[in-house]
Amino acid sequence: MQEKGTISIHTENIFPIIKKFLYSDNEIFLRELVSNAVDATQKLKRLSSLGQYNGPVDNLRVEVAFDKDAKTITISDNGIGMTAEEIKKYINQIAFSGATEFMEKFKEAKDANEIIGRFGLGFYSAFMVADKVEIQTLSYQDGAKPAFWVCDGSTEFEIGDGVLEERGTEITLYINSESEEFLDKHKLQQILDKYCKFLPVPIKFGTNEQEEEDGVDEEGKPKYKTIEVDNIINDTNPIWTKAPNELKDEDYLKFYKELYPFSEDPLFWIHLNVDYPFNLTGVLYFPKLKNDFEIQRNKIKLFSRQVFITDEVKDIVPEFLMLLHGVIDSPDIPLNVSRSFLQADSNVKKINNYITKKVADKLTEIFKQDRKAYEEKWSDIGLFVKYGFVSEDKFYEKAKDFVLLSNTANENFTLNEYKEKVEATQTDKDGQLVYLYTNDAAKQDSFIQSANKKGYDVLLMNSPIDNHFISHLEQKLEKTSLKRVDADVADKLIKKDDAPETVLSEEQTTKVKDIFTKAINKPAYRVELESLNPDELPVTVTMDEFMRRMKDMAAMGGGMGFYGNMPDNYKVIVNGNHKLISRILEAESDDTQSQLAKQAFDLALLSQGLLTGPELTEFVNRSVNLI
Ligand code: ADP
Repeated sequence: MQEKGTISIHTENIFPIIKKFLYSDNEIFLRELVSNAVDATQKLKRLSSLGQYNGPVDNLRVEVAFDKDAKTITISDNGIGMTAEEIKKYINQIAFSGATEFMEKFKEAKDANEIIGRFGLGFYSAFMVADKVEIQTLSYQDGAKPAFWVCDGSTEFEIGDGVLEERGTEITLYINSESEEFLDKHKLQQILDKYCKFLPVPIKFGTNEQEEEDGVDEEGKPKYKTIEVDNIINDTNPIWTKAPNELKDEDYLKFYKELYPFSEDPLFWIHLNVDYPFNLTGVLYFPKLKNDFEIQRNKIKLFSRQVFITDEVKDIVPEFLMLLHGVIDSPDIPLNVSRSFLQADSNVKKINNYITKKVADKLTEIFKQDRKAYEEKWSDIGLFVKYGFVSEDKFYEKAKDFVLLSNTANENFTLNEYKEKVEATQTDKDGQLVYLYTNDAAKQDSFIQSANKKGYDVLLMNSPIDNHFISHLEQKLEKTSLKRVDADVADKLIKKDDAPETVLSEEQTTKVKDIFTKAINKPAYRVELESLNPDELPVTVTMDEFMRRMKDMAAMGGGMGFYGNMPDNYKVIVNGNHKLISRILEAESDDTQSQLAKQAFDLALLSQGLLTGPELTEFVNRSVNLI
């Protein structure tokens, strides 16, 4: 029997379009054909378990082979096969509603995945790399006859009797001249590793290798013979397909190493396993993050029934969870749709919430079961928890109980614990709680010490997320604000009613202000006199909290253009109650007054690491003279 026909799409010839349009992504032809082959074996298994097929199903496999000389790649399987009728039905009548729709949609589509999935063109992706495609197949059905189909990439095909004697399908691609790169062992191996590494049936990759033979040839060189080698390239039962109680810690760690060979061990992991209302399995790992987030992204691999799809999961997994590593596998994620559609998809939303909840539950569990171990991991997970805390309300609801605040004495507190700790000392005269923090404990040491002297606690906020974390805390915590410890002198950081009286007269105050303003002689530094404790420093240089935050935000590109362009403005706070100030007033000459004022100002700059260059040299020289 030999028959000719026309593939039923009502347009001239879509293959050149497929080829041209999809060219950039053409390696996925192999994923599509191997997936079809795997599906064919899975269908047979299902029929067998339903009692509709009684032959053997224990030796199911898919084979990929290539022949460099003949320029062919062959994908074969021992799955259900097809009858000639089925070829006509499934292959010839391309499963999309009309060529016109296709022609319209392909113009909008952004990549090959979108087109191929949307129009059921999996099989036809073969024409991205092949001039001609042949199918030899034998259906599992009793009495089925082998069938043969060939198509040269036009809309003409031929169908006839085939030659297969065993059940299954063999698809041969005659690789076109632009795609010869695929006739290469390493190239194919690499594609198979990427897409097929965890497929549920063994994938054999057949290559020819040279093996040394006994004896030597006429020239005395070792003799070689060509042998065929079949390597199974996949792990058919990756850990996410197993039940958590079958697995030990080593199994999770081993799998992690397999996925990310050069990474340090992860901190812990979560095994995802749901059937309803959507199907999702997977293992998510918490990597050691430290403070670098960018390089850690895009480490989650998305699979659909063990076929690798992509490692761009940013529309499926909440933003802050992108820092995690691992695998998620769900047939319920629509794969071939545009991004906005994906974000609106109800399954994707549910999956999002589910993962968020699982992660929060895991953290709660570790926190409750072993607070010490949790605190030890805090430097690694803190960044991640804070990121979720600020970006995802659902996560915040749980994280508010396990997010930690660390202080300069290396103690950790939950939000409630911290409130209790500082409430008595750090509530200002208006009943507002003021949390103090430093972003650089070394630089701001003198401020930290002054604050500690007053009995205030100082938090460490030095991770890249902390600016956001701080504003989020202020939004969420009642009657609480945060102030960087160098935003003011310790006496003024938290406004109380018990301000010390000033010892200077009004006249003296004006005089001191004048001496300092002239001595410093820089418009960016505004001198102010304050009556502080006599044992506070004589001079302190501060930048207003609000102004500093605005400038920080402008520097991070937060659209605060106005503040970004402002010059740095500092307040020079002179402690009128300090002994040194009385001494300056009593000094014998204007020159000595100025020298002492300069010295006190430079000391303030020095303690904050602000004194550099010529000013530092001048300070050293002046100090030598004074001694
Ligand atoms: P899809 O896989 O999305 O249905 P394809 O174009 O890839 O679209 O395949 C069309 C149909 O051809 C499949 O649904 C299946 O019925 C049949 N088919 C393709 N490859 C095989 C195979 N290796 N064995 C059996 N049937 C196959």
